[in-house]
Amino acid sequence: KAGQPPDLAAIVTGITNGSMNELAKAITYIESNSPVHYSYGQELLQSLLKRTGRAIRIGITGVPGAGKSTFIESFGLMLCEQGHRVAVLAIDPSSSVSGGSILGDKTRMEQLSRHSNAFIRPSPSGGTLGGVHRKTRETMLLCEAAGYDVILIETVGVGQSEFIVRGMVDFFMLIALTGAGDDLQGMKKGIMELADAVVVNKADGENKLPAEKTKKDYDQFLHMLKPSTKGWQSKAFTCSALKNDGIDDIWNVIKTFQSLTEASGVMAERRRSQAKDWVHTLISEQMNQYFYRHPYVKKHLADWENKAMDGAVTSAKAAEKLFEEVFKHTK
Ligand code: GDP
Repeated sequence: KAGQPPDLAAIVTGITNGSMNELAKAITYIESNSPVHYSYGQELLQSLLKRTGRAIRIGITGVPGAGKSTFIESFGLMLCEQGHRVAVLAIDPSSSVSGGSILGDKTRMEQLSRHSNAFIRPSPSGGTLGGVHRKTRETMLLCEAAGYDVILIETVGVGQSEFIVRGMVDFFMLIALTGAGDDLQGMKKGIMELADAVVVNKADGENKLPAEKTKKDYDQFLHMLKPSTKGWQSKAFTCSALKNDGIDDIWNVIKTFQSLTEASGVMAERRRSQAKDWVHTLISEQMNQYFYRHPYVKKHLADWENKAMDGAVTSAKAAEKLFEEVFKHTK
């Protein structure tokens, strides 16, 4: 009934029993911007926490057109056929800025979306990138509690979103195209340092040989970088997502990565440090919110901005003054 609080225990039971309805309901709370939904979502997560963490978490990035959705379709279908349960999430950095979408609204991953072992959730839209980040991370945990054992998180090669995804997955891969020259010299170095594997896609037809050459270039480059994961040499591979060629090799690489890092403790260590970083991300976010929602700040922020703009006080003084007042009026 409207106004009645939901039966959270029933949702928890539903999710543990693999009910899609209950999972969808919980994700709605996580994604909602209403404070009461937020608290339902957090309560659900806390109850389900023990059931999370059993999936392998894989991040996938690449420029638009690299073949991310084609890859996820082939890769995801292969895993579903093997009996895995695959959840596909996305962080679309453009959704927070424009409400638009770089990852695309076109019907993506059509076959995978119809498979009963697959669950596909588009990037949460609206709000800050920080908000999208939180929602995706928490949705991932809900999916794990619901029994999904492979999580794929897709993003696009823009700004912060790749660092965000690296910070929530075990294995991070870059889908690249033939002709890596620009990537290798320019700003892409930063992204390359995050990658556990580079997959040169579209290695089919006439593109097969050039793709092999590109793979070698990436390999050379990766050898010069500090590894993204301790004890793991990141390497390049080729595949054709379209022709379903080389996809199984990539899964084998990920499984090797998983057993190695589990045995060495690097996997557990990374997850612990991700959980710690996450605490700090949330602290910053909540401090920010607290500050900007504080009545004094709401009332006087513009005054202090103006004083700084007019050169009456330094910008530092304006900030300091606002902080002082916020602390004075904090119980
Ligand atoms: P995304 O923007 O990274 O998700 O890229 P898409 O998966 O939408 O692919 C972009 C275009 O490349 C589409 O026309 C795909 O059909 C095509 N494509 C994707 N993978 C391959 C591949 O392995 N070989 C070939 N020849 N084309 C591909």
